[in-house]
Amino acid sequence: MSNSIKLKDKSFEIYLDEATIQNRVREIAIEINADYKGKTPIILCILNGSFIYTADLIRYFDFPVIVEFVRYSSYEGTESSGIITKILGLKTAVEGKDVIIVEDIIDTGFTISNAIKELKKERPASVKITSLLLKPDALQHDVHCDYVGFRIPNKFVVGYGLDYDELGRDLPSIYKLTK
Ligand code: 5GP
Ligand code: MG
Repeated sequence: MSNSIKLKDKSFEIYLDEATIQNRVREIAIEINADYKGKTPIILCILNGSFIYTADLIRYFDFPVIVEFVRYSSYEGTESSGIITKILGLKTAVEGKDVIIVEDIIDTGFTISNAIKELKKERPASVKITSLLLKPDALQHDVHCDYVGFRIPNKFVVGYGLDYDELGRDLPSIYKLTK
């Protein structure tokens, strides 16, 4: 594993290594396992960034799950565009079901607050949120995240599902932009 990488024009340095991420994902799964014993929640993976976190997390669960995918788009390059477009919607009816939204990162909170608002229209029995990363200093929306992996500074990161212009999602570790 190298300590620094280059994606297109930008350089990144190691921030959270693979073992650190995996240990934390396992810890979060243990917490969620305790809360969802005997239930079959819908796991709502917010594409594209959270596909890796979702895949790892659900394999540590000891209850059955239904996995669903939605896709919104708000990021271009390294900045949020502030406009959300829904590109892919839900297939399963969520009315009366328990839903766990899985995010890779909550930055301003705009994407997740939109997802929650939309989801609640369909009257699920409960909605909880897990995000692997949360940038507390970037939050602009009133979002409560139930299970947070790591609280991180307001820096642009890639790896473990997160991209820079679609590159870097496959990296097992998380890297931050080098200034
Ligand atoms: P928000 O709507 O909370 O501002 O941004 C949420 C989405 O923006 C995340 O799901 C993610 O796709 C993207 N995002 C936010 N911060 C970062 C970051 O540091 N790196 C990358 N690669 N994507 C980010
Ligand atoms: Mg995302």
